[in-house]
Amino acid sequence: DDVASYLDPFAIGDQDEHAASAAIAPSDISQLRAILAIANKYRVPLWPVSMGKNFAYGTAAPRLRGAVVLDLKRMNRVIEVNEKLGYAVVEPGVSFFDFKAELDKRGGALWMSGPAHSWGSVIGNALEHGVGYTPYGRHAGMICGMEVMLADGSLVRTGLGSSEGTQEWQCYKWPFGPSWDGVFTQSNFGIVTKMGIWLMPQPAGMAGVSISVPGRDDLAALVETLRPLRLDDTINAPYTIANGWRQISSGRLRSDAYDGPGAIPAARVGDLLARDGDGWWSVIFNLFDRPAALDIRLDAIRSAFATSLPGAKIDVRRWARGEPLQAWMRQDLSLGPLGTVNWHGGPGGHTDFGPIIAPVGERVSQVYGLIEKRFIEHGVDPWVGMFGMGGRAIVMVADLFYNRDDAEMTTRCRTLFRILCKDMADIGIGLYRSHISFMDDAAAMQGWNDGAFGGPNRRFKALVDPNGIIAPGKQGIWPEKKE
Ligand code: ADP
Repeated sequence: DDVASYLDPFAIGDQDEHAASAAIAPSDISQLRAILAIANKYRVPLWPVSMGKNFAYGTAAPRLRGAVVLDLKRMNRVIEVNEKLGYAVVEPGVSFFDFKAELDKRGGALWMSGPAHSWGSVIGNALEHGVGYTPYGRHAGMICGMEVMLADGSLVRTGLGSSEGTQEWQCYKWPFGPSWDGVFTQSNFGIVTKMGIWLMPQPAGMAGVSISVPGRDDLAALVETLRPLRLDDTINAPYTIANGWRQISSGRLRSDAYDGPGAIPAARVGDLLARDGDGWWSVIFNLFDRPAALDIRLDAIRSAFATSLPGAKIDVRRWARGEPLQAWMRQDLSLGPLGTVNWHGGPGGHTDFGPIIAPVGERVSQVYGLIEKRFIEHGVDPWVGMFGMGGRAIVMVADLFYNRDDAEMTTRCRTLFRILCKDMADIGIGLYRSHISFMDDAAAMQGWNDGAFGGPNRRFKALVDPNGIIAPGKQGIWPEKKE
């Protein structure tokens, strides 16, 4: 393969900053082990990827310039799909497209939860804490059992995979001993060669709910309305709240919306929303249940909004098992969100700033307000989506879109990202994920007790990967310097 294909096509600045020196794609465990032996011998840093499509966070490019991309896409078997127990076991190269095709071929009794754009892998996305839109949308939370190759070539199975002849590896996450699955997500402690992932049985029915909330100052009330409904599982899948800037970008190029200096002014956004018949905040989510139970859920949602936000407009679509799938159900995979990348005209790129916030009106308003203000100060449109991941957290995705050829713009976005890291660290907020260029900045936000969290990470890294060959710098975890 051409090594240039491992550059980040959406790089925020110079692609060479994260250029790989080579790439190597083993087709099985024994080739992988041989590669690790050579890398240990010559101290060659490797950057493992599954499909290498980590869109907006670096794609396949390594954190450390000159590292060799360890491309696992040829290890691409769906090893098991268990319809009785609702899980699958996959290898790194199983893309969402392949996986969906496999589930469909088996009659679609099990549904997967895919991310917004679906060209990546089941493993890569779950390892990076990616999210989707079904009750199984916290993908890292659906991992049950991994097979991992450590830097020395040894192979371990986590959880019940440690029992010879197990039939329960994917059935239970907390057997005897420490639970290791989480340790191998967003880290550089090993190479995941197999993963168990829980899958949702096809529901009997679905309702697609869209809510439009008119006022720019309604955010706190909106969050307060959604939280109890999500916490008690009335809303039984992640919701997405989109702000005005995000809504007006749909189906438009930026130049059609605004041609003045700086970020698109809120007043202009308000005009465009009014023209489109939209309120300042849009909320969408899907409900999954039997049809009669969906009625009960919808009644509760309508009455909560009628009390707290009577100006909200609620639209509902329905689906029952046996009917054809519809686009709002998000069961068909898409690359749709990639379309917005060229918001500034091509060639575009984007990354996002992703704080995790308690879904409490005051807290979300505080964080959102700071972020919106900083974006506008830096002349960047505050394109924000917020994902209600369970009843206790909102993962905010504040996207920075840039024209990659515009050095002034990419520099401005970098400055903005770093200022936001500082602002958020000052109020005790941490991130959910970051682009490779900002991993040290995100790690620096973990400041409690003089950054104590970095200590065990570094010590564990030295123990399991003494030559520092696996993904140096990932998540801000660097190997110790060796002479
Ligand atoms: P996807 O193609 O699913 O979007 P990637 O393959 O780009 O995701 O993986 C995202 C990140 O997750 C990679 O940059 C790497 O740090 C980590 N990663 C992916 N696959 C593995 C794996 N099999 N073992 C260890 N880390 C991995």
